[in-house]
Formats: sequence, C-alpha cells, structure tokens
Amino acid sequence: MIQFDFKDQTVVITGGTRGIGRAIAEAFLKSGARVLATFQGNTETARLFEEANQEHAERLIVKQCDVTDYSAVEELFKYIGEDLGVIQVLINNSGIRRDQIVGMMPREDWQAVIDTNLTGTFYMSKFAVQNMARKRYGRIVNITSPVARFGMPGQGNYAASKAGQIAFSASLSKETARRKITVNCVSPGFIGTDLIADLPEERVQLYLNLVPMRRFGEVDEVASSVLFLASKEASYITGTVLEVTGGL
Ligand code: NDP
Repeated sequence: MIQFDFKDQTVVITGGTRGIGRAIAEAFLKSGARVLATFQGNTETARLFEEANQEHAERLIVKQCDVTDYSAVEELFKYIGEDLGVIQVLINNSGIRRDQIVGMMPREDWQAVIDTNLTGTFYMSKFAVQNMARKRYGRIVNITSPVARFGMPGQGNYAASKAGQIAFSASLSKETARRKITVNCVSPGFIGTDLIADLPEERVQLYLNLVPMRRFGEVDEVASSVLFLASKEASYITGTVLEVTGGL
C-alpha cells in the first residue's frame, strides 16, 4: 500500500472496528495518525480490534457511539473537543443493510437504514465541520456504494441512503471549500465483509459475474483510496466519488 504520512493528525472513523472500517483504521495507524474508531454495539469485536493493535495503543482510542443517536454524537464530539482537540479527518464508514423488495419492506427497515447510513453521516459531519473549522482544514470521506447509481432489487432503502450520502457530500463540499475542508465519497464494489456474508451462493455468483474483474475487492483496496482522499496531497479534490469497484 502507498505510505501516506498522517503524523500529528487525528482521524475519526465510524464503524472502525471491523470490516472496511477496521482496514481503514489500521491503515491510518500505520501511517502515523491518532485514531478514534467507533462502533455501535459489538463490544467483543471492538476488544479484539484493540488487542490486535496493541503496538499503537498510545494513538488508538475505541469508543461506542450509535451514529443514529444525535445526543450520543454530540457527546462524542464534546469528548473529542475536550480531550483530543481539533481533528483533521472524519471517515463516515458505519453502515447497515436490511434488504427487502419495496412492496414487502417494513417501515422500520426503511428507517433503520436511512437513519444509520444517511442521517448518521449528517450528525457526524455537522459536529466534525464545527470542529475542523477552528483550524480551517479538514477531510471528510463518506463510504457510499455503486448501488446508489444503478440500484439493486431489494435494496431500495440502502440505495436511497447511499445516493443521499453522495448528494449530501456534494452540497457540504460547496459549503466548506473555502475553509479547506474537502468532502468526498469512496464507493466500494463488492467487498467480502460481514455486511455481505449472508448472501446465498447463487447471489454471490451473480454478483461476481457483474464485476468485470471477476473478483470481490479486498478491504485494503478500499482503505488505500480512502487514505488518498484524506491526505494533504488530495488538496484540490472535493465533492467527488471515487469508485473502487473492479469496473462495476
Ligand atoms: P460491516 O457490517 O462489516 O461493519 C459495519 C460497521 O458499522 C460495524 O463496525 C458496526 O458496528 C458499524 N455500525 C453499524 N451501525 C452503526 C450505528 N448505528 N452506529 C455506529 N456504528 C454502526 O460493514 P462493511 O465493513 O462491509 O461496510 C462498511 C461501509 O462500507 C458501509 O457503509 C457499507 O454500506 C459500505 N459498503 C460495503 C460494501 C461491501 O461489499 N462490504 C460495498 C459498498 C459499500 P458494530 O461492530 O458495533 O456492529
């Protein structure tokens, strides 16, 4: 992986203890950043993640924070402001799927996906922008999905939440550009994490056939794109979507 330098930078990653988020967190740790990784409720996975990264213990903070809970996010940023100070990078990575065709979709599943993937991105970004504005520098990277572009049966809620993240990022990028805060999305294709572990074999084969590279992506392939957009080197890139999809 390309080695970026994030020494003296503080990075916040939601859902940073497993899957794609964990790979992103570990890539930032290897690049010298101080990392605050959050999770929702999977305490055991969070503990294992922390244990596996003992060598960076002095630069790693793991906290539980439900991104759908406005007060919890506000509390998190109060802690950040008081204990960590100004942050340079926010990665809105946490996300869920609750697939069902629209005609059968329970309202709760629509709401849960929109709340986590889209509203959570808004809550975290709102407080991050306030924090970053103090030093007039920042990088926000939101993890969206190519499903936002082409849709997928059974993913009306997920696709809408991911398309919403893209539109939100484009608007926010215009608000923050003059303060040198960039806002971009990374859009991973099919990546073998817990998120898609429940897919039946026939669906896996179907999805594999859709990918021109005929393979699923690796979490590290997503992480390196995220680090690029979060780096100082990506200073003139904002409001855009970087697709990491094997050509999907
Ligand atoms: P995982 O299911 O492996 O991990 C999801 C992470 O999000 C977990 O850390 C989880 O916390 C956290 N999370 C879920 N809900 C909340 C919440 N309400 N508040 C805070 N944290 C929460 O997912 P992936 O790593 O696969 O996905 C990461 C991102 O990438 C998501 O946004 C997903 O939509 C996107 N993506 C994934 C693709 C894939 O193929 N895997 C493809 C395209 C996009 P906890 O561990 O506590 O449950």
